[in-house]
Order: sequence, then C-alpha cells, then structure tokens
Amino acid sequence: MTTSTAPGQVWTLTLRRQKARTGDGLPAESYTDAFEIICCDCGDDPRRDYHDVPTRLQRLRGPYLIDTGIKQYESHISWHEAEARAR
Ligand SMILES: [Zn+2]
Repeated sequence: MTTSTAPGQVWTLTLRRQKARTGDGLPAESYTDAFEIICCDCGDDPRRDYHDVPTRLQRLRGPYLIDTGIKQYESHISWHEAEARAR
C-alpha cells in the first residue's frame, strides 16, 4: 500500500530573511542579513513576531547567517523525517 500524498509528508518550513527593526522595535520596510526558520509543523506561524512565539520556536528561528540557516533548515527537515519514520 502506498500513500504518496499522505499528510505530514510535506514540511511547511520556511527560511526567510529577517525584517529589520526601527528604533521603536517596529518592523521596518527593510531586511537584515539574518535569516530565520519558520516551521508550521512545530506550531510556528509566519505572521507572528519573533517575540510573540514560545522560546523553543525562537531557538529554531535563529537568526542565522545564510550558510548556517541552510544547514539548520536541512537538518530540521531530516529531524521531521526521522520523527515521522519513528511513528
Ligand atoms: Zn519543525
């Protein structure tokens, strides 16, 4: 039996450039050189601000430099795949 479109096999994981902030801590229209990982499978929501998500999600978000971000992104996908196989 094959279920190629089984839910949970597609990871909703995003590596995005972190928004710059103004002096007031408000999001600016520019972006920094830092990247963050948003994983909806871990309960994160791209619309929420860094400071509004739980600590474990802040740790996942980083921020990272681009090379580290890509490595973290890939290792997080591997972690989800391992978790799925363990079920
Ligand atoms: Zn995740």
